Amino acid sequence: MSSALETLRRDFGGDIIEPGDAEYEAVGGSKLVPGSPAYVLRPENVDDVRAAVGFASGSGLPLAVRGGGHGFPGFGTNDGGVVIDLSRLADVDLVDGERHIVRIGGGATWGQVAAALAPHRLAISSGDTKSVGVGGLTLSGGIGWKVRKYGLALDSLVAAELVTADGEVVTASAEENPELFWAIRGGGGNLGIVTAFEFAAHPTTDVFFGKVTFPASEAVEVLQGWAKYLRTAPEELTSIASLANPFAGGHEAPVEIHIAFDGDDQQLADAAIDPIRRLGTVVGDDVALTAYADVLVEGATPPPGIQVVARNAFVDREPVPEVLQILAEVGASPGSPVIALRSVGGAVSRVADDATAYAHRQAELMVVTLTAGPKPVIDAAGPDLDALWGKLAPHVDGAYANFLASAAEEDVAAVYPADTYRRLAAVKRQYDPSNLFAGNHNVRPE
Ligand SMILES: Cc1cc2nc3c(=O)[nH]c(=O)nc-3n(C[C@H](O)[C@H](O)[C@H](O)COP(=O)(O)OP(=O)(O)OC[C@H]3O[C@@H](n4cnc5c(N)ncnc54)[C@H](O)[C@@H]3O)c2cc1C
Repeated sequence: MSSALETLRRDFGGDIIEPGDAEYEAVGGSKLVPGSPAYVLRPENVDDVRAAVGFASGSGLPLAVRGGGHGFPGFGTNDGGVVIDLSRLADVDLVDGERHIVRIGGGATWGQVAAALAPHRLAISSGDTKSVGVGGLTLSGGIGWKVRKYGLALDSLVAAELVTADGEVVTASAEENPELFWAIRGGGGNLGIVTAFEFAAHPTTDVFFGKVTFPASEAVEVLQGWAKYLRTAPEELTSIASLANPFAGGHEAPVEIHIAFDGDDQQLADAAIDPIRRLGTVVGDDVALTAYADVLVEGATPPPGIQVVARNAFVDREPVPEVLQILAEVGASPGSPVIALRSVGGAVSRVADDATAYAHRQAELMVVTLTAGPKPVIDAAGPDLDALWGKLAPHVDGAYANFLASAAEEDVAAVYPADTYRRLAAVKRQYDPSNLFAGNHNVRPE
């Protein structure tokens, strides 16, 4: 180890942070999960990433690659291993103004991207939170506020630069290493470290953004009407319905229909949003014209000791009414988790299931539950949560890797349908045969 460390110190221009160093407390854990790695390596450039990968692979220690550090399972840290923290690779450059091609460092956050693109009146449909990483969100999907119009974040990706397990720098695009390009669009961090992403951004105006709320007692009708309307609503409209907001009364909280309308024309926005306003008795409506960069919220880091459990699944068209009925009932019971339903469909579903390693293209909705609290609260909530997911099981399908707090075999199987998994495993054998990059919903090379 000591000679490997000497080589690292010679070749690596970034920070090497070890237990006891002043910064260690701040960088040891990821945002949602604590950790105690032996080394946090913070590269400044691609050569540093190569040196860090060489060190990690030679050390035999577990490796975690950290983008924005927001992964629910805590993939951005470990105990006793090596963490490669990409936060210094955060440049955002408009490299082709005509085609709106933006090159983004592998450790940038979506807040950095939105702020850098705002002066150009450009945006990339990503997520809802500034501090979430471009890396993790894009490599597994990216369901953001313009998802129905522009698809997943990974649908706007045109190329990526990766450092692979053997330290090589490769480009993945439709022209270069197309199978690797297929794999990184859904395959998470399995294939290597993305040091730069190239996206085709889209022009943006300010957008209409906010929420319309209805009494909890109207949940069933509002949710059913909402889901039905989304089938014909303009794709400029993206929406999230949420129940049991703990900051607004928990199981007695109003039903919240969050809305983003991509455009600044008041009449078109009203025409798109009014059918939602007519779904029930409106008790709140704060939809207003907002700069796209301000739509993204700051991500809160939970205080020490607080765990966050996220579970999710996709809902195809046919079982939507049944699923909404179950969720409305559970949302109104004491102890309900936070329930969010995200609209997908639109541009997401116009891409073939096998065009990328993200395969759940035909779903209309994604249902997510979130439970947060100290361990005893999480443990106590477990049986009710299992019961809810047991009720949903016959009607839902698959899972979105980015909203899963666990990474057991069944989670990986839910994320990757069998054909996708087999094809990913073949790419994995080529680029990471020893499974160096295992801190993810892992696709094994064998
Ligand atoms: C508050 C919050 C809000 C969220 N909102 C949304 C949302 O609106 N839409 C949505 O789709 N998702 C959302 N998510 C989920 C989010 O997409 C995932 O948590 C995602 O994995 C976070 O990426 P990260 O880079 O911040 O996390 P990390 O924990 O750093 O990384 C997650 C995974 O990606 C890998 N990875 C990260 N960067 C790279 C890279 N450059 N190269 C190779 N591998 C890499 C890591 O190794 C790890 O396996 C949200 C999560 C949180 C906590």
